[in-house]
Amino acid sequence: MMKKAFVTKEQIEEITKKYPTPFHIYDEKGIIENARAVNKAFSWNPGFREYFAVKATPNPVIMDILMKEGCGFDCSSITELMLSKAVGAKGELIMFSSNDTPASEFVYADKIGGIINFDDITHIEFARQALGGRLPETISCRYNPGGVFQMSNGIMDNPGDSKYGMTKKQLIDSYKLLKSYGVKSFGIHAFLASNTVTNEYYPMLAGQLFELAREVQEETDCKIKFINLSGGVGIPYKPDQEPNDILKIGEGVREQFEKLLVPAGMGDVAIYTEMGRFMLGPYGGLVTKAIHEKHIYKEYIGVDACAVNLMRPAMYGSYHHITVLGKEDARCDHIYDVVGSLCENNDKFAIDRELPEIEMGDYLFIHDTGAHGFAMGYNYNGKLWSSELLLKEDGRVECIRRAQTPRDYFATLDNLEMFAKLDEILKENE
Ligand SMILES: *Cc1c(COP(=O)(O)O)cnc(C)c1O
Repeated sequence: MMKKAFVTKEQIEEITKKYPTPFHIYDEKGIIENARAVNKAFSWNPGFREYFAVKATPNPVIMDILMKEGCGFDCSSITELMLSKAVGAKGELIMFSSNDTPASEFVYADKIGGIINFDDITHIEFARQALGGRLPETISCRYNPGGVFQMSNGIMDNPGDSKYGMTKKQLIDSYKLLKSYGVKSFGIHAFLASNTVTNEYYPMLAGQLFELAREVQEETDCKIKFINLSGGVGIPYKPDQEPNDILKIGEGVREQFEKLLVPAGMGDVAIYTEMGRFMLGPYGGLVTKAIHEKHIYKEYIGVDACAVNLMRPAMYGSYHHITVLGKEDARCDHIYDVVGSLCENNDKFAIDRELPEIEMGDYLFIHDTGAHGFAMGYNYNGKLWSSELLLKEDGRVECIRRAQTPRDYFATLDNLEMFAKLDEILKENE
């Protein structure tokens, strides 16, 4: 499949008059259409809700768009909880799927009425103490079956190696314990494979969790209210990958539901999802300008973004497709490493990539940065975060996060004398 940027060179030339590169830009129209497709795919389940994984794109303007489409929020830290509260989410619209959780975060999640999803059996006492000896009425527990999770096309992941969730015995013991503490309704959660580009993942996972839910209900007599399929639905980062079909995925989950839950009298169970990547990934791009070319043992193009703006290639070796704006139809007859300015040789957005000839000043659109893109930013080498822009449905562009400045970068230095010097230096330079 051809990968097409959702902005043109002309649009970017206009936008950069006001907002210099680099920036992440998000496509409101794409986000809304996709969110509607997700809700449609699961509309057979009256209790269905997608809890957007805030960590993927923690920007309240993006979260607000999703909330208007009926999404709740999946959080794993206090700041993500605060963002969710800021956009008006409360109570059952918030899922708190954290791990290694500090006591203060359980307290805050409970205070705003979020649904706590326990990652471990020991967290039950830990949270109960933090909450002054009580627990909320609804609680979820996270399951880890161990072993490997393998799908028919060879895609697999390795739950047995992951730090999350509980064994089946711990899970059942947890529900019994929670019930003895007066908890009334229960959820089951599992995240067993990441970035699965196959329609098979959710239905397979659902099959496993539905069987587990029957067992739990039989053994513990706990009322299962929801089953949370969590995240892991992938996107085609590479142009030759076939995208997931969310309608097929929804139908696949429904088949399992009708086969396993309905006959057990559990047809009222709500299905929840916690997708991040699938909700936002394709609807964001990192726009960066070519500022240097270098010809040594290989051909390098230096751009004005670097790995602090998009860490996935450096951290996981991930492929992100690149479109040279205005050269969409040109022949890809050059081979480049596209690099950023960090003093780290893994700061490469692309290695040995076939691209059209790049001239200085060309704008590169790095695809699929809408999820786990800006969000993973850091400040190594004193490099600063870029801005985030929203391409609205009506074609206007809104700045939804300004770029970080040196003043922001120095702001947490507590030594007053040193800060005064930096303040002087900043003023000289402003
Ligand atoms: C990261 C995460 C998600 C989202 O994962 P995606 O791969 O972006 O869909 C959902 N739930 C939990 C608990 C997570 O940690």
